[in-house]
Amino acid sequence: RLGHMPAPAPRLCSRCTTARAVLKRPKNHDQLCRECFYTVLEDEVHQTIISQNLFKRGERVALAASGGKDSTVLAHIVTTLNKRYDYGLDLFLLSIDEGIAGYRDDSLDTVRRNEQTYGIPLLVVSYKQLYGWTMDDIVAQIGTKNNCTFCGVFRRQALDRGAVLSRADKIATGHNADDVAETVLLNILRGDVPRLSRCVSAITGGEEGGGLPRVKPFKYTYEKEIVMYAYFKRLDYFSTECVYAPFAARGFARDFVKDLEAARPSAILDLIRSAENFRFATVEAAPAASASTSSAASGKAGSKGKGKGAASKQQAAAMAAGASATDAHAPASADAEGNAGDAGAGAAGSRQPVIALPTTSTLVRAPVPRQCERCGYLASQPICKACVLLEGLNKGRPGGLSPWTPEPMPGLDGFYHTGSKAAAGAAGTGPAATGSAASVSSSTVQDGAGNTAAAAQPGTAARSRSWEDGGSSVDSGASTQAGGQA
Ligand code: SF4
Ligand code: ZN
Repeated sequence: RLGHMPAPAPRLCSRCTTARAVLKRPKNHDQLCRECFYTVLEDEVHQTIISQNLFKRGERVALAASGGKDSTVLAHIVTTLNKRYDYGLDLFLLSIDEGIAGYRDDSLDTVRRNEQTYGIPLLVVSYKQLYGWTMDDIVAQIGTKNNCTFCGVFRRQALDRGAVLSRADKIATGHNADDVAETVLLNILRGDVPRLSRCVSAITGGEEGGGLPRVKPFKYTYEKEIVMYAYFKRLDYFSTECVYAPFAARGFARDFVKDLEAARPSAILDLIRSAENFRFATVEAAPAASASTSSAASGKAGSKGKGKGAASKQQAAAMAAGASATDAHAPASADAEGNAGDAGAGAAGSRQPVIALPTTSTLVRAPVPRQCERCGYLASQPICKACVLLEGLNKGRPGGLSPWTPEPMPGLDGFYHTGSKAAAGAAGTGPAATGSAASVSSSTVQDGAGNTAAAAQPGTAARSRSWEDGGSSVDSGASTQAGGQA
């Protein structure tokens, strides 16, 4: 009898109403056909790029490429939109090779294939080349407890160095809405207000007070939709997790975000929107009357009184009076009434939430960029984070070897952990002998056809080796933790 029943009519796409719907959008449960899904997703990314002013015509943009789904879809969509809307961007792929056997070596093969597919050049820089250590070396020395901290700090700097080497103006990363929501949660849980104030920006500067601007075209794009896009488009990506990922601390926040999403699809966007709407005030612990001035959510000093959410001294004082030492990091709300005289008419009558912190105003002040005394890289402290971590690693090196000292790279003098001249002389006998920094040079940028224009020069042999044996996780969720993302 069932055989005589008419088959249910195929559900039609809610957008074009002609083609058969093949998926339900995780973001809002719209039923769409394949072509409409592509169009909607690409349009959303285009809207993010335009509304947040992510790019300017003529800019040279490094697309952080790990070979994973996010960065592969990023390369696909940004190259597509660049042509479709004539952004006028000069794009290239930038990969970081952390040196994680069984993970990065395979994913780099994927990136190399993408280089051919999208016809844009690829540059790979490795931890071994930059720091004298692979992640495998680091884990062998320190274990799997803090390895992601090292990895995050090194990656951030490596991306900057690779991008500067290639004369990029900006770095685009594949961080998606899920990543941003997780970062919001983690920063709340850690009470890290400076990062909380920055982490929802679609454009951020370098973590250490400078560096190249980083943009997130997928800030509002759900991870599930990126996976669907890659699946339906049959994009070539690598999906194995880093072998050290199970030890990454981000996992619980990731699971929590997924649970929230299962209960309510908009939860991811809601988390991002709520963090976007926070306004941050810095308040002296005591007495209440000494409350400092505020700064807006961007974390930039000097924004007082400009934004509609800027809090006045009176507000800050009121909040400080209400905040006890124990609930110091709990969100407090305050209205902006009485703020008109101080913050301008824009604030009058509007009611904005304010997070009050009993601390000094330096907490959310934008770090003043300076140069690391050791490597010359941008830093917010006299010594950059990577040099501090490297010092600890090098001290523990068997045989007490002198710090690794690569040769300066052409056009990038001062951008490497070069140390003293004497130490540089010893570099050939140190751990660096297997991977000179000279092995990263602009001559190793491959052209669109995949031809490597590598001239014979010192370090060439080391280059080909180090290109083969390492890896980068520019945009894996785990990779963004622990300093990987401001
Ligand atoms: Fe690096 Fe990510 Fe692996 Fe941690 S999980 S070691 S941050 S690639
Ligand atoms: Zn359709």
